[in-house]
Amino acid sequence: MPELPEVEGVVRDLRPIVEGKTIESVSLSDVVYTSHEAGKQAIVKNAKPSQFELLVRDMKIDKLERRSKYIFFHLKKNDERFILVNHLGMSGAWFVVNDVVEITEEKFRKHIHAIFTLASGELLVYADIRRFGELRFIKELADHPPLLKMAPEPFDESACDFFLTQSEKPKFAKKAIKEVIMDGQVISGCGNIYATEALFKLFIHPGRVTSDLNREKKMELFQMICDVLQESIDSGGSTISDYRSINGGAGTMQHRLKMYGKKQCVICEANTESIVIGGRTSTYCPQCQK
Ligand SMILES: [Zn+2]
Repeated sequence: MPELPEVEGVVRDLRPIVEGKTIESVSLSDVVYTSHEAGKQAIVKNAKPSQFELLVRDMKIDKLERRSKYIFFHLKKNDERFILVNHLGMSGAWFVVNDVVEITEEKFRKHIHAIFTLASGELLVYADIRRFGELRFIKELADHPPLLKMAPEPFDESACDFFLTQSEKPKFAKKAIKEVIMDGQVISGCGNIYATEALFKLFIHPGRVTSDLNREKKMELFQMICDVLQESIDSGGSTISDYRSINGGAGTMQHRLKMYGKKQCVICEANTESIVIGGRTSTYCPQCQK
């Protein structure tokens, strides 16, 4: 799924286009409606589709913010403030167009699930091929408690200490280091791609038990994760699978990855191996990573 740098790229691209604009109306797809009737709640969470369409109407998009892998649309109506929380899931993508025919990639055009008509006349379109993404209208973070459990932003001053403290808790200390650094309650926004890269760069086997790493090594790993995330933000994120920036835009970090998706180690040329950790495939070099 898109990780912190990819979501940051979407927010940076979307911000100048939609901030300050008013949502005149919103229309959700038939798929969203029928899934709710079947009790499955595709895309739109915590509200019925018809309610959601009414709630968001006439809201001004005051500010866009990224928190971990979420996009927060801070909305305002008169003096009341709300947040439309979006998670891109596996393949969520945003477009700003005058007409949906401008969305050139058919796989996205065929899977449009929300069209926000802005007062400017533009359409803010959310497409999601696999429908694991979310749109959630809330008044405050406490309305969706998992949001309160998010680790601080990795670039915040407190984030490294938070990581060290969390990683020492019994619940995490006995787990594989890769599973721990990918947990949003330990570090915000680091998923499979950047966890794989950071561990490889420090020659740490992804299956190493967390308590096995001393404090210095953990601090070094935390810094490496920040470096890899920053490098990716600067490259516009990794455009792999169905990740896109807005309007189908692409980043270049996928060309800079050293281990994720590789068959051979770039250092020793050994064949890479894969193991499943915390339900995710983890690629590593059996020679370099111990
Ligand atoms: Zn190697």
